[in-house]
Amino acid sequence: MTDQPVLLVDGLTAGYDGIAVIHGIELTVGHGEVVALLGANGAGKTTTLLAISGLVPKLDGTIEVLDEATHEHRRVTVANVWRLARRGVAHVPEDRGLFFDLTAAENLRLGKPRKGGAVPMDQILTWFPALGPVLDRKAGLLSGGEQQMLALARAVIGRPRLLLVDEMSLGLAPIIVEQLLPVLRSIATETGAGILVVEQHVPLVLGIADRAYLLRQGHVTFAGTAAELQARPDLIEAGYLGA
Ligand code: ATP
Repeated sequence: MTDQPVLLVDGLTAGYDGIAVIHGIELTVGHGEVVALLGANGAGKTTTLLAISGLVPKLDGTIEVLDEATHEHRRVTVANVWRLARRGVAHVPEDRGLFFDLTAAENLRLGKPRKGGAVPMDQILTWFPALGPVLDRKAGLLSGGEQQMLALARAVIGRPRLLLVDEMSLGLAPIIVEQLLPVLRSIATETGAGILVVEQHVPLVLGIADRAYLLRQGHVTFAGTAAELQARPDLIEAGYLGA
């Protein structure tokens, strides 16, 4: 364990076809921290996560992930997705990225690290008990909530140090989101993983997050604790409604 952030994003500018849609993003995620990335549709939240994962090329700035493989707590510059995965970064995309023709158990197996050290299944089922009865079912036949749990479980089973979660609640009933967000909190606290989560249910995510960033038109307009942002509904409103 170290005081250095697991993720350090400095002056990140990224976009599509050479045109920037996020500009000079400064962002950190610490060990065991849940950090919410908020903002209206099109603010640049998904692009930020994709750029951190190397799936959208950055145009400027640096993205550094703490390298604990050597136990030297050395920060390294991310070069590509493959190296990122080896450095303990897992990304749960908006579409969940499941293999629908494989069973839930087979999807989970794909998330296990080759060299061992996976989170034991009983621990996974403590976080996601609803997966127990459906492990032999094809992922494509699971409910939306079960699919989201499976996507999170598959990301977590490899013990990531940094977990990026995009729009977990997409298509889910609010009651499922209310159940899943505290699980993210538990995963961060119990495993020490840093979690960067994009979420539209602002009050719910601020209830479990340590810190938050608000993006507006690709710029960070607020960075602070979740409690500070909860106390500033005017800022949230401006971020979402452009007031
Ligand atoms: P949402 O909450 O709707 O998912 P977001 O905050 O995640 O929005 P992004 O998806 O990052 O926002 O989009 C930021 C900007 O980049 C938007 O203007 C969007 O139209 C644009 N954009 C996103 N994906 C592409 C793409 N593949 N090619 C070109 N422009 C894109």
